Amino acid sequence: MLESTDFNARLKKKVPEQLPEKINAQKQAELFANIKKLLEQKNAVLIAHYYTNEAIQKLAEETGGFIGDSLEMARFGAEHKAQTLVVAGVRFMGETAAILSPDKKILMPDMSAECSLDIGCEPDEFRKFCEEYPGRTVVVYANTAAAIKAQADWTVTSSIAVDVVKYLADKGEKILWAPDRFLGKYIKKQTGADMICWNAYCVVHAEFNAAAVKEHKKMYPDAPVLVHPESQPEVIELADVVGSTSQLLKATKEMSASRFIVATENGILYKMLQSSPDKEFIFAPTASFDSEMRHETTCPWMKMNSLQKIYEVLEKENNQVELEPEIIKKALVPLQRMLNFRK
Ligand code: 13P
Ligand code: SF4
Repeated sequence: MLESTDFNARLKKKVPEQLPEKINAQKQAELFANIKKLLEQKNAVLIAHYYTNEAIQKLAEETGGFIGDSLEMARFGAEHKAQTLVVAGVRFMGETAAILSPDKKILMPDMSAECSLDIGCEPDEFRKFCEEYPGRTVVVYANTAAAIKAQADWTVTSSIAVDVVKYLADKGEKILWAPDRFLGKYIKKQTGADMICWNAYCVVHAEFNAAAVKEHKKMYPDAPVLVHPESQPEVIELADVVGSTSQLLKATKEMSASRFIVATENGILYKMLQSSPDKEFIFAPTASFDSEMRHETTCPWMKMNSLQKIYEVLEKENNQVELEPEIIKKALVPLQRMLNFRK
């Protein structure tokens, strides 16, 4: 099992030292025009996660691309007719696209954009974990490397994790879960499943602080609290809505409240404000879960994506996600189960 000292040491090596520079409006307009041309020329489509910066999300919208949660990104990429998918997110999202669409070219603006959950769960140590607990159904979060998915029975995203595990537990199956310890705890509580959990965490969501969120609730008593389930259990306890990025966004559209306390990454503000321009979104306060790894509400890896890198990857067609055929074959099984799953 992962030691927290090893996890921290690994994370420190992988957190980007510098994020892309901000660009002015003229440069942004130039890049938009150039990228649009290249997308057309190369029969390519841009698929972005909600946590990427606003300009990337705007570009996806203007070019017939897509913005969504990790499950929706996977579905969109697999179903879209474009020959090239440009995945603006973190590495597991590009890998998922490569597994689901082996005949398409999958490009990523920055191949070193990772995810702390992925970093915290390496294939060899995960193999040993599985061997330690034979006979359990292995369910892994989408935020893992293809080589982890290749060892799993099921892959889930936060939008369907509870439903899938409930379905398996109702059939009497015992679960081995990785890698997010807080999401694991949440699923276990919701389903009553017999679960053994890996112990990595998301450096962004682990930062939300329950005591400080309670103070916010006192300051804004009319504001529902929206929480992503990668947050700590004490924060989830305070939530009015717990869900994936798309589920939280949906709540902001459907609930009549005029302001919300939001415990997820701040890139989602773009879509929240776009659909509810008159509502106010207050990001939940953070306090250092791990003082050495402080990230507040920004995912350092998601923010490595930039318009300049999208332009370059389309022009040069480098940064192509390539996986071993054997890994693709094995990882496709749990991913396909996830895509076929209906409540
Ligand atoms: P969603 O599936 O909710 O988009 O989550 C992905 C993620 O990385 C959350 O931190
Ligand atoms: Fe990974 Fe957390 Fe970033 Fe999502 S927000 S990509 S879980 S590090």
